[in-house]
Amino acid sequence: MRTQVVIIGSGPSGLLLGQLLAKEGIDTIILEQKSKDYVLGRIRAGVLEEGAVRLIEQAGAAERLHQQGLIHDGTEIAFDSARHRIDFKGLTGKTVTVYGQTEVTRDLMDARASIGAPTVYEALDVSLHAIESDRPIVRFRANGTVQEIECDYVAGCDGFHGVSRRSIPEDRLKAFERVYPFGWLGVLVDKPPASNELIYVNHERGFALCSMRSTTRSRYYLQCRVDENVEDWPDDKFWEELTRRLDPEAVSKLSTGPSIEKSIAPLRSFVAEPMRFGNLFLAGDAAHIVPPTGAKGLNLAASDVAYLSSAIIDWYRRNSRGGLDAYAGRALARVWKAERFSWWMTQILHRFPEESGFDQRIQRAELEYLFSSTAAQTALAENYVGLPY
Ligand SMILES: Cc1cc2nc3c(=O)[nH]c(=O)nc-3n(C[C@H](O)[C@H](O)[C@H](O)COP(=O)(O)OP(=O)(O)OC[C@H]3O[C@@H](n4cnc5c(N)ncnc54)[C@H](O)[C@@H]3O)c2cc1C
Repeated sequence: MRTQVVIIGSGPSGLLLGQLLAKEGIDTIILEQKSKDYVLGRIRAGVLEEGAVRLIEQAGAAERLHQQGLIHDGTEIAFDSARHRIDFKGLTGKTVTVYGQTEVTRDLMDARASIGAPTVYEALDVSLHAIESDRPIVRFRANGTVQEIECDYVAGCDGFHGVSRRSIPEDRLKAFERVYPFGWLGVLVDKPPASNELIYVNHERGFALCSMRSTTRSRYYLQCRVDENVEDWPDDKFWEELTRRLDPEAVSKLSTGPSIEKSIAPLRSFVAEPMRFGNLFLAGDAAHIVPPTGAKGLNLAASDVAYLSSAIIDWYRRNSRGGLDAYAGRALARVWKAERFSWWMTQILHRFPEESGFDQRIQRAELEYLFSSTAAQTALAENYVGLPY
C-alpha cells in the first residue's frame, strides 16, 4: 500500500489530523490497535478550549458539539468552606465548552467514515521503518496477515504507551517527567451536575472536582492514593467521601446514583523533546502528558494538530518545508506553557502526602492571593481558556 501520511492512533489527535488533511485532499491511512468500540468506550477529557472547537469546526465535525456542548463562562474554586468564582468571560472575553472526548471522537470517526477515508482497526504489531528516509515504511498485522504501507510522513498520534515515541533512538530523545504521589478516582453518573460550572475543591481530606459531560451526566473526581484499586471504592463509599469534601450548598445539590464508569488515573507531567525524528512527527499524548487539573490534555493534542496539519498542507500545497522544520519548536513552546499551568493547578489544589507546614502556608498564601487579585485571576483564566495558537 502507499499513502501520503500514515497516522498511528485513532484518538482525538489522529482523527483530527486525518480530517484536516483530508479537507485539503491529502491521503491518510489511520492504524489503530484497538477496536472502534473500545476506543469509543474510553471516558476521558471533557473541557474544550475555543481553539479546539474551531479546529473541530474546520474538520467538519462540530454540528453535535454546537447543539449539545455546554458553554462555561467561568469556574469555581472551593477552599476553607467558601467558593470563589473565576470569571473567564469577564477577564478574558473567552469561554470553554464542555463536551465529552468520547463524543468528539465519535463525531470525528463519523466525519472520516462519511468521506470514505480508511482506518484499520485492530492493527497489531505496528512498527516503523526508515523514518529518517524520504520513504518511511509502516508495517502492521491485521486479519492474520502482515501488511506494509509506504508513505511520505508518519504522524505518531498513538498516546503515551504507543509505538511511535519508542521508535526514536534513545540518544535522540530527551524526556522530562514528574510523577505525582496521588491519583484521581473518577465516577461517571447519569444524574444532573451539582452546579452549572465546574467546582475545584481544595479540602483537608484531599482534592475533589465536580465536573460534567452534559446537563444529565456528571463526572466527579476524588484525590486518592496511587496504590488504591477501584474495587476499594464501592459507590456508597465514593459518595460519602465526596460529600465530606464539598461545601453544604454543593452537597444539597448533589444528585447521586449508580456509577456507569469508575476508574483511577495516575497524575503525571511528561514531555519528550524534540517532537520530530526524521519524517516521524509526534502529536498529543505520544509526546506529552499533563495532570488533568488544568483540563489541557485534549486541548494540547488539538494545538499540536493545528501546527502539524498546516505544516503538512504547506508542504503539499506550496512545496514549503518551513512549517515541518518549525513544528517541534512551535508545538513545544505551547506545550511547556500548558505543562506549567497544569503543574501549578495541581500544586495549589491537592494535598501532598509529604507536605511540610511551610508547604501548606505557601499553598494557602497562593490561594488567598488568587482570590484577592484580579491580575492573578486573569492569569488563571487566560491559561484555562487556552493560550493563542
Ligand atoms: C484515563 C485518562 C483520563 C483522562 N482524563 C482527562 C481529563 O479529565 N481531562 C483532560 O483534559 N485530559 C484527560 N486525559 C487526557 C486526554 O484524554 C488525552 O490528552 C487525549 O486523549 C490525547 O489524545 P491523543 O489522541 O493524543 O491520545 P489518545 O487519546 O491516547 O489516543 C491514542 C490512540 O492510539 C492508539 N494506539 C496506542 N498504541 C498504538 C499502537 N502501537 N498502534 C496503533 N494504535 C495505537 C490507542 O489505542 C488510542 O486510540 C485523560 C487521559 C487518560 C488516559
